[in-house]
Amino acid sequence: MSTRAETYAARVRSRERLSEHLVRLVLGGAGLAGWASTGIPDEWVGLVVPGQFQSRYYTVRDWAGGELTLDVVVHDEGLVTEWASGDCVGDEVTVTEPKGSFALPAGAGWLLLVGDLTALPAMARIAGTVTELPTRIWAEVPDDLSGYLPGDADVTWLTPPAPGASDLAAVVEGLDWPEGDGYFWMAGESAQMRAIRKHLMRVRRLPSTAYDVMGYWRGGATRQPRAVDPAPVWRAGKAAGKSDEEIWADYDAAQARQESR
Ligand SMILES: Cc1cc2nc3c(=O)[nH]c(=O)nc-3n(C[C@H](O)[C@H](O)[C@H](O)COP(=O)(O)OP(=O)(O)OC[C@H]3O[C@@H](n4cnc5c(N)ncnc54)[C@H](O)[C@@H]3O)c2cc1C
Repeated sequence: MSTRAETYAARVRSRERLSEHLVRLVLGGAGLAGWASTGIPDEWVGLVVPGQFQSRYYTVRDWAGGELTLDVVVHDEGLVTEWASGDCVGDEVTVTEPKGSFALPAGAGWLLLVGDLTALPAMARIAGTVTELPTRIWAEVPDDLSGYLPGDADVTWLTPPAPGASDLAAVVEGLDWPEGDGYFWMAGESAQMRAIRKHLMRVRRLPSTAYDVMGYWRGGATRQPRAVDPAPVWRAGKAAGKSDEEIWADYDAAQARQESR
């Protein structure tokens, strides 16, 4: 089985600054003709920007009329950050086929979404897609993005305690959980996500089908040496019959191995 994702060439059609740290890129062009959405609301693509060979992963915020919308966080430094901070309209990039991991269990009576700015595009798409369940969102973001999520969303906006820092693990530990069965989705900095998975498993004793917690980026002083593509890890895990929880733990371990090289 090939673990290499299909790739597609695309051109940046427009760039719009949504807030100080969030830039919207719309990609289009004939190269995207064969690209097809999975329909899974947290689906992501790998993005390779000009002059680079390493991918970074971005949520498909929207896919309509042959155009792909990605909302990119621009932080202090970084390969995509530096590119997206400048005038990239007209640039040719490569995106991969999409992959998603949101898997709402049958019978879920509620939905909780928690995340930082990198998770906001996925939380917005999930909240706009899963409209039949009572949904609560905790968004820890440095900018005023109050118009970003669907208008009827029940959102608690949180400010990060310091630039690049997060209190989300403490927020989750203090959550007032709804009664009955539901689904918990969360993404953000990897170390925080590991702490939260332990809490969900050991304290809340949730079955792995009741939550999806993903490390979207790794804190650290230097540029990431090379990101690990979640798609092959995902496919290999699924082929081995692993749960989402086990697959994301494999992904975290692969990232840690990559960093220690
Ligand atoms: C499935 C998935 C979906 C994702 N969806 C999105 C999305 O829709 N939008 C989005 O912006 N990101 C998203 N991310 C996160 C994004 O891939 C990472 O933040 C990525 O590292 C950014 O690349 P970069 O080239 O800008 O920085 P890198 O070159 O990767 O990193 C440079 C330095 O910046 C630090 N850093 C990396 N990301 C951040 C951050 N977000 N905040 C503060 N410091 C950071 C690193 O620790 C490193 O020190 C997603 C990740 C995954 C796995």
